[in-house]
Amino acid sequence: MRLAIVSDIHANLQAFEAVLADIDRKGADAIVCCGDVVGYGGDPEACVDLVRERCAAVVLGNHDLAVANGTGLRMLPPEGREAARLHRHILNDERKHWLAGLPDRLEIFGVTLVHAAPEEPRSWMRLEAARDAARQFDHFATDLCFFGHTHIPGVMADQLGVFSIRPGRRYLVNVGSVGQPRDGDPRACVGYFETETFAYEMSRVAYSTAGAAGAIRAAGLSEGLGARLHTGR
Ligand code: ZN
Repeated sequence: MRLAIVSDIHANLQAFEAVLADIDRKGADAIVCCGDVVGYGGDPEACVDLVRERCAAVVLGNHDLAVANGTGLRMLPPEGREAARLHRHILNDERKHWLAGLPDRLEIFGVTLVHAAPEEPRSWMRLEAARDAARQFDHFATDLCFFGHTHIPGVMADQLGVFSIRPGRRYLVNVGSVGQPRDGDPRACVGYFETETFAYEMSRVAYSTAGAAGAIRAAGLSEGLGARLHTGR
């Protein structure tokens, strides 16, 4: 089957709609989400509703938890804290209850999903280099584990010298961020994975960053949150 994997939508409706259009155009049997549906962006309600409508599986992100019940709010960077407080105010109890009930990890369609790292998902560890990743392979059972959190796409393999993703080898795949990419490319990220052949494609989707920045401004959030969308930093 063909999976579309999204992560870190961060209430960016313009980016998420563009990614969904890409998925609908290319085709996928299921869409799964590695968390952080809310935080940072201008449209938390619409993004929660659209994720619930379109995604077959969703795991909990640190911003989701902070918005749902305030846990870890003080650990977020200042602009993230400001947005999480606002989203806590905007979302009704039913939507916050749904966020609070998201699982820390899921094994589904033969792959593992976490937000940050398979070892102690709620420590929100940042997997940025192969060295950080090495011991993570002991903490999931499938060949593939998809994650997000750093907003920087990448693939980490359990063995050196592996140049194609293939069955029997193991990988941690950061699918990047839909709503706030930070690798210098402002286009939204979505990963496509074929569960039979192990083919993986990282797709980038252009969208209206001006529209998303406008929604952030209209919500009364800091200008910087909109400005960073234009550069992808
Ligand atoms: Zn995030």
